[in-house]
Amino acid sequence: MKICFATSECVPFVKTGGLADVAGALPRELAKLGCKVKLFLPLYRAVDASQHGILPAPELANIPVQMADRTVLFNGWYGKLPDSKVEAHFIECPQYFERDAIYTDKPDEDERFILFQHAVIHILQRYNWAPDVVHCNDWQTGLIPALLKYNYGWDTLFKNTATLMTIHNIGYQGRFPATSLLKAGLPAEQFYPGSPLELDGDLCFLKAGITLADKINTVSEQYAEEIQTPAYGAGLESILASRRHDLTGILNGVDTQVWSPESDGLIPYPYSASKLANKKKNKQALLRRAGLPFNSEKAVLGMVTRLVGQKGVALLQPIIRELMQLPLQMVVLGSGDKKLERFLRRTAQGFPDSFSATIGYDNQLSHLITAGSDMFVMPSQYEPCGLNQMYSLAYGAVPIVRRTGGLADTVKDYHEYYQAGNGFSFNDFSANALLFTIRRALDIFKSKRTWREIQHRGMVENYSWLASAKKYKASYRATRKSKSDVAI
Ligand code: ADP
Repeated sequence: MKICFATSECVPFVKTGGLADVAGALPRELAKLGCKVKLFLPLYRAVDASQHGILPAPELANIPVQMADRTVLFNGWYGKLPDSKVEAHFIECPQYFERDAIYTDKPDEDERFILFQHAVIHILQRYNWAPDVVHCNDWQTGLIPALLKYNYGWDTLFKNTATLMTIHNIGYQGRFPATSLLKAGLPAEQFYPGSPLELDGDLCFLKAGITLADKINTVSEQYAEEIQTPAYGAGLESILASRRHDLTGILNGVDTQVWSPESDGLIPYPYSASKLANKKKNKQALLRRAGLPFNSEKAVLGMVTRLVGQKGVALLQPIIRELMQLPLQMVVLGSGDKKLERFLRRTAQGFPDSFSATIGYDNQLSHLITAGSDMFVMPSQYEPCGLNQMYSLAYGAVPIVRRTGGLADTVKDYHEYYQAGNGFSFNDFSANALLFTIRRALDIFKSKRTWREIQHRGMVENYSWLASAKKYKASYRATRKSKSDVAI
């Protein structure tokens, strides 16, 4: 099966969040399952072409794309996803991608990803390569089904090409003024109230993808249900509900080459479920790095997160004094919202022995926090899948999470009577519910034997990418079949 995997970020080339982890791991596993995968990604300034052996493709130089009344040129570059047979194609267009950030709030943000999406299709045409499925990921690739239908419908190359739209986060929809339609070259007559392309007078890339893709999926079963409701659907709930028969949930996996406590090169002391002693050394190393004193009676609570409302970091604010009275220390790594950054810095100044805040993005520290923490906190308002709780399960950092989306699918609340569960979870998105649950976890933490059992149940859990890739492959078959009944 031939898969075109279009994404706006991908490990190891460029990453801001979980989508990059998915794009770096899923295609590799799909290739192992016999799929031929071409991956497409913008060549941002942040991508180090020489480090990754990415070279210009001479046959893909100066390809024109019409952008309203202008012509924009792009160049194709070519590389490989490391340790795989996956071809990685990069779209070079300095006026759009030579920027300090990979996402911007500049007025031409729509143009950047319109160019990217046309470029993906142009390259498929140049290579005369007809995918069975174009796998679109998030709003940055949400227009591809519309473009294939309205703009490239004439090209018989794509007559059996189906589209799968994956929603990694419904909170980011790619909504732009109606004038974006002209830039994309989409037909004006397809834009009217309630049409697939329109949302409240805007062009909405994600809605277009959800409405026009042959199938849709998201990154956990629970989130697939939640986004059909007003509380979680961010305005797209009724459209999703109307397509519920085409909507599934497939949990992301963990890339065990990167996230495995036995072989993690970014932590000082490797360990495993059967050899947990080294975890304590990682805890000491973490506290040293964070500048906090070691105290074996105190639990270390880790957090690694983008500082955005969704992640629930603000829930710490009203309870921080009470938390700091408890036998715990917190090590937080994150960046984003300036108010939250200030709150974290202030808290670290106010409680220098109990609270450490690192503002920024630090991959190595994120591994050390996961390895060195006793507990890992994710009080998300919503969480499509969440990777950190799966990493923390694997590293014996018992997760404390709000029961939503992928957190609900992976973290099972500890149950004393049945001696079951791999973490602690709560329902209400409230500071008190979080505080109550942290207290509950600290209570159990005192019983070392019970704690080790909870850790162990998490560490032997298997969230492999292979299992997820098999589900994606089945989903590609279903997607392709819904397009035509040609046997594949
Ligand atoms: P999201 O995609 O919503 O940010 P996920 O839990 O799915 O959330 O994935 C987040 C990924 O980004 C994880 O791999 C996490 O370790 C990483 N990450 C987030 N913030 C930071 C940071 N400040 N430094 C290092 N890694 C981070």
